[in-house]
Amino acid sequence: MEFALPEHLPAVLGEMDTFIEREIRPLELSNIQYFDHRREFARTDIERGGVPAGEWEDLLAEMRSRADRAGWLRYGLPASVGGRGGSNLDMAVIREHLAAKGLGLHNDLQNESSIVGNFPRVIMMERFGTAEQRRDWSEALITGERAMAFGLTEPGHGSDATWLQTSARRTSGGWLINGSKRFMTGVHQSSHAVIFARTSGEPGQARGITAFVVPTDAPGFDVPFYWWTFNMPSDHGEVELREVYVHESAVLGELDRGLDVAQTFLHENRIRQAAASLGAAQYCIDQAVEYASERMVFGKALAVNQAIQWPLVELQTEAQMVRLLVHYTASQLDRKPHMEVSDKVAMANYRANRLVCEAADRAMQVFGGLGYTRHQPFEHIYRHHRRYRITEGSEEIQIRRIAQRMFDFGRASR
Ligand SMILES: Cc1cc2nc3c(=O)[nH]c(=O)nc-3n(C[C@H](O)[C@H](O)[C@H](O)COP(=O)(O)OP(=O)(O)OC[C@H]3O[C@@H](n4cnc5c(N)ncnc54)[C@H](O)[C@@H]3O)c2cc1C
Repeated sequence: MEFALPEHLPAVLGEMDTFIEREIRPLELSNIQYFDHRREFARTDIERGGVPAGEWEDLLAEMRSRADRAGWLRYGLPASVGGRGGSNLDMAVIREHLAAKGLGLHNDLQNESSIVGNFPRVIMMERFGTAEQRRDWSEALITGERAMAFGLTEPGHGSDATWLQTSARRTSGGWLINGSKRFMTGVHQSSHAVIFARTSGEPGQARGITAFVVPTDAPGFDVPFYWWTFNMPSDHGEVELREVYVHESAVLGELDRGLDVAQTFLHENRIRQAAASLGAAQYCIDQAVEYASERMVFGKALAVNQAIQWPLVELQTEAQMVRLLVHYTASQLDRKPHMEVSDKVAMANYRANRLVCEAADRAMQVFGGLGYTRHQPFEHIYRHHRRYRITEGSEEIQIRRIAQRMFDFGRASR
């Protein structure tokens, strides 16, 4: 049993830190309103329904393009799209490291943009796209020249995606799509969206759902409003589709096998999200320890009280256990098909997401009144990471996945 990280990683993390200090931190400092206590207000365009402000998104784009020029953005992607072929383990360690640095332009929580990109859509395209789709999309998605939203959730169905009601029926040379989608992240700036629609079969069947790449300016594709969320800005649009026509070539992956595309997207996110949650949790724990050591109460350091120490010890212990699970799962993902380790991915994901919420909450408590202010980062970390206990397959759905493996049920829907 080997617990050491791969040899190349410490040097990679060091080089990355140098790059951040040299090229990203100065940009962050000259745009500090997006990171200090004003962050949610500066980032949100209230006049446009609460979507991200254009200048904020431009700043993130500049960060990504600097990272791309320096060879970091594509680190986790294969060489075929200009990447460095970083493994799942590399990516887990890197994302933990970046999140453990706290809030900053190097790794924005709300937008999920980072100097080392997480590109589930590119992987989705590379794995399922035709040669033409890959040519049209992969590079453009990496550079940010084009964006593609992801439309699985509906007003009537979220966790139970196999029950979705959006449908597509054949017409001459293509398909007509009808239905509605909810919480379609990034649709405000996406030229297209992957829309999952039933093309055959019955509600509840995994087979019979197809993924379509749909232009968001197609007649009948409407975004009536954006949901205002716990963390702002919001780019989570409600979407209506009425007789939206797409050409046959809009099908992504195999007809009726769209949920394979969706699973790939979600799995790519889940392990990296777990690593980021772990890093953010460690940041909260470390900050709380440091503050408690300096803050004087009743004439002594706050940290001497066991009531302060013990909850932080519990969190540190949990963080160490989660770290071993995240590293183990990521290294398994490097060796096996992702569905074979989906239960481990689920374990890592729900425990890491729960951990960061508890760590941010505890840090607020240790910081007292200051912890509740926006001058500290914990409220932002809490509000952002709270989302992950619901979004990429909620906590209950991750637990259900583990139960499926343990009790051997639900084979049909796997
Ligand atoms: C900020 C944000 C961004 C999002 N972005 C996207 C996006 O880009 N694309 C997209 O398609 N979707 C997106 N979503 C939607 C998200 O994936 C869903 O909200 C999530 O899958 C849960 O679905 P639901 O909200 O319909 O809850 P429901 O499915 O209605 O579930 C309600 C609650 O019941 C629990 N539950 C459900 N079934 C069971 C069960 N069998 N046993 C026990 N408990 C159960 C759930 O865990 C949940 O807590 C986003 C959501 C948010 C909040």
